[in-house]
Amino acid sequence: MIVGYIILMGIVLFSLLVCAAFAGKQGNELGKSIKKLIVVGMICVASNMAYILTKDEVLATIFFGVFSVLVDWMLVYLYHYTYLYTENENPNIIRMILIRGMVILDTISFILNNFFHHLFTFKGKITKEEFQIYMVDTESFFMYLHYGICYIIVVQVVYLLVKKILTTSRFYRKKYYNILIYFGVVMLNDGICTAFHFSLNYSILFYGALAVAVCYYSLYYEPKELKLNMLSLVAEKSTSGVLCFSSDGKCIYTNDKAWELVGVEKDIGLLERTYKQQEWVEQRKNKDSFTHDMVKKVDGELRHLEIMCQNMYDEKQVYVGCYFNIVDNTQRVLGYEKQIEEARQASKTKSDFLSKISHEIRTPVNSIYGMNEMILREAGQPEILEYADKIKGSTEILLNIINDVLDFSKIESGKMTIVPVEYNMREFLENTIGTVAQRAKNKGLELNTEFDTNLPTLLEGDNVRIQQVVVNLLTNAIKYTSQGSVTIRLRCERYGEIAYLTWEVEDTGIGIRQEDIPKLFTAFERLEEMKNHSIQGTGLGLNITRMLLNLMDSNLHVKSEYGKGSVFSFRILQRIVDDTPMNFYEKVEKKREEYKELFQAPDMKVMVVDDNDVNRMVFCQLLKRTKIQIEAVDSGEKCLESIQKEHYDLIFMDYMMPGMDGVETLHLMQNTEHQCKNTPVIMLTANALVGNKDIYLKEGFDGFLAKPIRPEELESMIFDYILQQGIPYIGNPCTRADSLGNHKICK
Ligand code: ADP
Repeated sequence: MIVGYIILMGIVLFSLLVCAAFAGKQGNELGKSIKKLIVVGMICVASNMAYILTKDEVLATIFFGVFSVLVDWMLVYLYHYTYLYTENENPNIIRMILIRGMVILDTISFILNNFFHHLFTFKGKITKEEFQIYMVDTESFFMYLHYGICYIIVVQVVYLLVKKILTTSRFYRKKYYNILIYFGVVMLNDGICTAFHFSLNYSILFYGALAVAVCYYSLYYEPKELKLNMLSLVAEKSTSGVLCFSSDGKCIYTNDKAWELVGVEKDIGLLERTYKQQEWVEQRKNKDSFTHDMVKKVDGELRHLEIMCQNMYDEKQVYVGCYFNIVDNTQRVLGYEKQIEEARQASKTKSDFLSKISHEIRTPVNSIYGMNEMILREAGQPEILEYADKIKGSTEILLNIINDVLDFSKIESGKMTIVPVEYNMREFLENTIGTVAQRAKNKGLELNTEFDTNLPTLLEGDNVRIQQVVVNLLTNAIKYTSQGSVTIRLRCERYGEIAYLTWEVEDTGIGIRQEDIPKLFTAFERLEEMKNHSIQGTGLGLNITRMLLNLMDSNLHVKSEYGKGSVFSFRILQRIVDDTPMNFYEKVEKKREEYKELFQAPDMKVMVVDDNDVNRMVFCQLLKRTKIQIEAVDSGEKCLESIQKEHYDLIFMDYMMPGMDGVETLHLMQNTEHQCKNTPVIMLTANALVGNKDIYLKEGFDGFLAKPIRPEELESMIFDYILQQGIPYIGNPCTRADSLGNHKICK
């Protein structure tokens, strides 16, 4: 029998040991708390065994005392664990002091019992087979006090568990009431043993089961339905609409959001019909998931919905149905629309700004350019002519910068077009080199040219843009070279009517690091800003160059060695118009061209309306030798007055004027009676941003002339009207085409 007892207790101890090890392995606070509880429980069981098995009365007293004290401490740790488990936090210090204080006093009482025997004594022995168990007499005040302390803690534990069972979600109750049941079994049996003064407290046989229950439910168990319930709650509370269909097309689940989004009353039939629509069936057959965008009017407002359908399969890959996820993208779409609107607004602000800046700069430049032209025409002394030439050069640079900025915005907005015209190769090369020669000379750089000697005389292409590209490369080469040379090469390969021109600009300048080459084409980016800060530039040139070349189906190539120099090159196709070979190096004697007016028309009456005094003066001076009669007025109001009294053959109108602007003046002219009903009105403006010309023509203007006024362009334009209206003039219309190239009437 004693062997059976030992085996039984061994099993209890073993199960406690396994549970303690399992709990300790968890590493969390709850695990540690359970481990402590079980370790105390093990010692408690061991001391009870020792009391049962000893044959010595003194030892039996000690072991029974130890067992009783450890029951106290076991309850302390049980309380700690229960609190942590049910409340998810440690019991506060006051609770622990109170409980531990009582238990410490009880422990002292048990120690003293070895001397005073005030708790229990032995009232004899029970001898049964090999067992000799000392019968304990526990009828004393202090023993009842001990039981009282134990039951205070037990009540606390039960209270915590019951409270949790009543307050927690039904999904979790099992976790708590199972522990309560196992604990109840132990306590009931312990109560029976105590009440009937059993010397053999068999309730400790249930300790193992309690320990297993505590470990399992606290550390391992998750309620089975929890996952499903949680998932359905997630679907219920989801911010997107969720719908599930079985394989035969029955709607088996919808959340409220789905109805809210599609905005229909709960009508399963409608959804099922949608599900069965041929289009959807096809989609599901072909793909496991697909997405539809749908715009729906719900309660008078447009909703942008994204409907995602996903097929679902079981573990054997058999189709079980599908689910739909409906996401409301309305806010996102509205956000995008707002961003697009803001970007549009920002772009408009940029255009307005550019237009304004262009206007503000071109107006004074017009004065400088025009007045300087008068000096060039009228001054005799070579010194003055040289100064004026320099002013002209600087004005051109300033205009180039404005044009760069305008070009950039024009290309960026896709409004730049390539206009192929016939051009003379010699003139092209001379102009191009002439533009930069002085600059190279000023820096003491050699400007070498290496041109093929078989270049065609006349080509067709956008000479203005090609020149812009070549001049930009040459200007950069000169800017970024402090000594040595800049070489421009042009090779030509001919294939019947087609010529491939390969342009190369080489310099012996600062060079570019390999890693910096991609940065060359970033707008407004300049390399080694600190080092090059004294060199004038905007960081736009190469960007524009490359974009222009791309528009002409070409590309810019860069080879460079840092510190040694760079080579920029491109290859471009041009049509040959006249293939007579031209040798640039065979010098053709050319005289400095003296200004000669294109015509004289003393009978013609022209009015110019411009609020800027200097600009009015420039206009009159530029046309002085044409002998035209010019009336210059400074406002729209004065223009309206003058046309009441006098007939004019042509009117040039500024746009931005204080009071009435050019457009308003024109509209009033159209709606009132006066002497100039059939007179063409030309918009004369510094507001030369791309697209503006079309705007002015739409407003009713007959032509458009940008400031700063190019004298030849102005004369040519007036001459066109003279010819058109049959106004008497002196001059030869045939010479016009020769001296002015491609100018056409601006209509
Ligand atoms: P920028 O107006 O600054 O000259 P670009 O777009 O023409 O603008 O050139 C961009 C940058 O590329 C310049 O700031 C310069 O650092 C570099 N770069 C251009 N051409 C050369 C060159 N020939 N040699 C060395 N660096 C050059």
